[in-house]
Amino acid sequence: MTLRHVTVLGATGSIGTSTLDVLGRHPERYRVHALTAHHSREALLTQCRRHRPAVAVLDVEEDAAWLRGQLAEAGLVTEVRTGRAALVEVAEAREVDTVMSAIVGAAGLLPTLAAVKAGKRVLLANKEALVMSGALFMEAVERYGATLLPIDSEHNAIYQCLPADHRGGLGRHGVTQLLLTASGGPFRGWSRKELVSVTPDQACAHPNWSMGRKISVDSATLMNKGLELIEACWLFDARPDQIQVVVHPQSVIHSMASYSDGSVIAQLGNPDMRTPIAYGLAWPERIDAGVETLDLFQIARLDFEPADEMAFPCLRLAREAMATGGTAPAVLNAANEVAVDAFLAGHLGFTDIDNLVARVRDERPVAPAGDLETILEADVLARRAAYDWLARH
Ligand code: NAD
Ligand code: MG
Repeated sequence: MTLRHVTVLGATGSIGTSTLDVLGRHPERYRVHALTAHHSREALLTQCRRHRPAVAVLDVEEDAAWLRGQLAEAGLVTEVRTGRAALVEVAEAREVDTVMSAIVGAAGLLPTLAAVKAGKRVLLANKEALVMSGALFMEAVERYGATLLPIDSEHNAIYQCLPADHRGGLGRHGVTQLLLTASGGPFRGWSRKELVSVTPDQACAHPNWSMGRKISVDSATLMNKGLELIEACWLFDARPDQIQVVVHPQSVIHSMASYSDGSVIAQLGNPDMRTPIAYGLAWPERIDAGVETLDLFQIARLDFEPADEMAFPCLRLAREAMATGGTAPAVLNAANEVAVDAFLAGHLGFTDIDNLVARVRDERPVAPAGDLETILEADVLARRAAYDWLARH
């Protein structure tokens, strides 16, 4: 058994804490090299006490100074660094072989790419990074020999349902379709009219999964499924028309692959992110994730229905952005991040999230996404357009 050295980007979040839970179950297999957080210094301190990383990263110096003081008092030698450059450093550090990418949003792009370019095993939860930079990201994985393991439960499921080497297009392996399951979110079955007045707390109360607030809102608008559709296209070399979204309210089947002989292979499990996280950490082995085995008698039934793209236009907007290509997915992502923030802050109605994304899409020109500068510029300008729209409404 090889001892693996792990950096957890976004350690204090929902995915980050689940990752540390799994790591903590296997001290003989894993050492934590670095833990990063944005502002949650208390949570990071608790994690440092428990996992004793060599490095901890926070965004600003004031929080870092506080953490240094607390660590010194506790007699810990963890070094505390700050800022974006430090995130990149701990992602590409020589001492590290595995990086969990669990920062939310575009902020995760540069450190995740750094881990890829350093040839690490990259556990990708931060779907926004791949949505923004798809072609460039996948080329870098290939060129620098990184091992990319999807952590998003649907993509992790598809990965498990495909042949071990699935490169070169789905058709080559007899795969006819990827079936991407969706819970439908907390407002499944609601009309557009009913959605107008939903609150952030309602949107964040997901029926099956407990997650960060941004992805919870994305799940409620179905933008999450749209981002996942784009993510699946890049990860599995699929066209948007090869991916079917299937609403499956129980969230027990995490996704499926259909084959030309009529077989459909599915991965099932309780909705607990520690399963795909443990899969990514131990691949190609399997380890205990702390998750109970599925009890099919207790679940009793599984339901399936199509997604309602009239009530939830974000899914269509994402599919269109993928078909347009170039910087369109980066623009979609940036506008959505601004819209979700505004919604969570109480400045934007729920159904104006997709309105805002569509308006920014209409305004911003699309460029080929050949280099990182173009992608980052598209991101910045789309955010600016989104703030302008918010200021006018
Ligand atoms: P979260 O909000 O719970 O945690 C985000 C983490 O990133 C925190 O540690 C936070 O401190 C850090 N962070 C936030 N903004 C940052 C910034 N600007 N710079 C540096 N660090 C920053 O989010 P989450 O639910 O854990 O999701 C993380 C990622 O994983 C997202 O991209 C999400 O789409 C994806 N994901 C999450 C789940 C889930 O079940 N939570 C499932 C699938 C995919
Ligand atoms: Mg998912």
